[in-house]
Amino acid sequence: RAKQTGSSSYLYYSREMNLRSLERLKLEGSLRHALDRGEFRLHYQPQVDLASGRITGAEALLRWEMPGHGMVPPAQFIPVAEETGLIVPIGEWVVDAACRQLRAWLDAGQAPVKIAVNLSPRQFSQNLPRTVLGILRAHDIPAELLEVEITESMLMHNADSVVAMMQEFAAAGVSMSLDDFGTGYSSLSYLKRFPINTLKIDQSFVRGIPRDANDSAIATAIIGMAKALNLKVIAEGVETAEQQDFLKSAGCDEMQGYRFSKPLPADPFAALLCASNG
Ligand code: C2E
Ligand code: MG
Ligand code: MG
Repeated sequence: RAKQTGSSSYLYYSREMNLRSLERLKLEGSLRHALDRGEFRLHYQPQVDLASGRITGAEALLRWEMPGHGMVPPAQFIPVAEETGLIVPIGEWVVDAACRQLRAWLDAGQAPVKIAVNLSPRQFSQNLPRTVLGILRAHDIPAELLEVEITESMLMHNADSVVAMMQEFAAAGVSMSLDDFGTGYSSLSYLKRFPINTLKIDQSFVRGIPRDANDSAIATAIIGMAKALNLKVIAEGVETAEQQDFLKSAGCDEMQGYRFSKPLPADPFAALLCASNG
């Protein structure tokens, strides 16, 4: 009996696997054409100063409308883009699209706002700063309006050349934030070694605030460490008034999350910016 169950669950498992690899192949095939076919969009999620309530900037988040499938979440297609190397042209598109949008806002007379873009470790190369700075120049965007978000895994990758790359960004005036902070394996000494401006507390720690004592203690510790190292600190995934109040009293600088707004298409984001910052 046990043997039967074992083999039937094995069959079930392998059929699941085939379905999944078929899905994955379809996804990969569509992803290869998504850039040419103009299927990507950026949404913008406000980052809000906890003391003043003003919007200080936005994180640009990639959205893909796969024909016949609807919206595919980044958690599904970014890993595929990374494995296939497609993240390099897609990542360049993201920086270009964010700068083009910034240019349109500036031309329309809107107050300048800083935009953060996510960079994948796979995009890292000696040429990355030159590519990004070239895009800024092409759209005539001051480097101070761009922030790049990197993850701890990028820092562990190839430390010396990553330091050189980050120094190029810093010298040009592009700021850098460390995304999903606390979830990776980087040592705290990295914080001294790399020219980071901002720590983003990962939403997995924010979720349990204020009821979970461990999450609350971890968030408080990250905020304290950021202050001591003169870094700005922003909490991700803030959903409730309780989380906002806790983080504000703990000295966190900014928040980002559904509590204030979901990621929005460009026009609604601009309208929200006008309404909030006056
Ligand atoms: P991330 O950079 O940490 O972005 C924050 C994610 O949290 C976004 O998910 C955002 O929609 C979500 N989020 C924001 N506020 C809340 C909240 O209050 N509650 C909850 N539950 N979630 C919230 P999204 O847009 O699905 O993106 C997921 C991840 O995909 C990003 O995490 C980032 O790692 C990656 N990603 C997105 N766009 C890009 C891109 O242009 N390039 C690269 N390389 N990665 C990207
Ligand atoms: Mg991010
Ligand atoms: Mg994050």
